Parts: sequence; C-alpha cells; structure tokens
Amino acid sequence: MKEAVCLECGHVFPWTKKYWNMVTPKGGRSHKICRNCINRHRREKNSSLENKVANLVSVHRYQCKKKDLPFDLDKKWLLEKIKNTTKCECCGKPIYININGNSDKKWQLDKVEPSKGYIKSNIAIICRRCNRIKSSATINDILMITKYVLQFRGVIGDSAEPGTR
Ligand SMILES: [Zn+2]
Ligand SMILES: [Zn+2]
Repeated sequence: MKEAVCLECGHVFPWTKKYWNMVTPKGGRSHKICRNCINRHRREKNSSLENKVANLVSVHRYQCKKKDLPFDLDKKWLLEKIKNTTKCECCGKPIYININGNSDKKWQLDKVEPSKGYIKSNIAIICRRCNRIKSSATINDILMITKYVLQFRGVIGDSAEPGTR
C-alpha cells in the first residue's frame, strides 16, 4: 500500500482517508500533513486570542447591523487594546488574557453606553465581575445602591435626592 510521511510530525501513514485529507493541491507539498496535525492546528487556532477577537468583532458587527447600532471596531485595534490592558477599566483590579472561562478576573468587552454601540470611543475592557454587575443594573439601580450605602455609612444625609425610577 502507498504510504506518505507527514511533513509536520514525521509519522508514516498509509495513504488513506483515515490518515490524510487526500486533497492534493497542484504542485504543492502542503497536503502532506496528516489528519492529527491538521486537527491540532484547528484546535490551536480556535483557542488563540486572535481567533477569539476575530469572533467578537464579527459577532458584534453582525448584531450592531441587526439592531441598527454604530460599529467601527476592527480586529487589529481590539487585539492591541486587549493586549495593552492589564487592569479592569471599571474596578482597577488585574485582568488576565488566559484564564479559565468562569473566573471573575477574565476580561470582557463592554460597550460603556449601550445605545452608542460598539465604537472605539465607547469600548472598555472590564473584568467579568464588573460586567455582570453592570449588565444587570440600570443607572438608577446603581444610584440607588450607592445612595443606600453612603447613607448607611453616614457619608450623606437623608436630604440627598434619591435615584428616581
Ligand atoms: Zn502529522
Ligand atoms: Zn472590574
């Protein structure tokens, strides 16, 4: 049986669909990469930050178009911003690029004022915890809780205007 050597891992496999893609681009040697190696590349690509950022950009581009909101993000700009942001822009605590999905220290993209859409001047990188608090509270909720805590501590008196609902 015909065999072929994978140019990437050096393993020799029978030339069958089980081990190879069997697609032979004209004149190229690039097809001589085994299925294992192709799958590994795919996994690595999917987990990379670049890929995540590209996904975010395309998802938000689509949603902004659907909801008729402004959008001007691009992959390169966002990737730079994320790489250069080491602290949550809301609470100031450290955030991490590679951290497990459920961690509160994971970064998330926030459109600061929801109605302004995903434009560069309205985008912040904040931690998962801040995003969760922010996304479930309205501005009046935040004012109400702030007032409650400040009154409780005696920082402000009862006369302060309450957040109107
Ligand atoms: Zn291989
Ligand atoms: Zn935060």
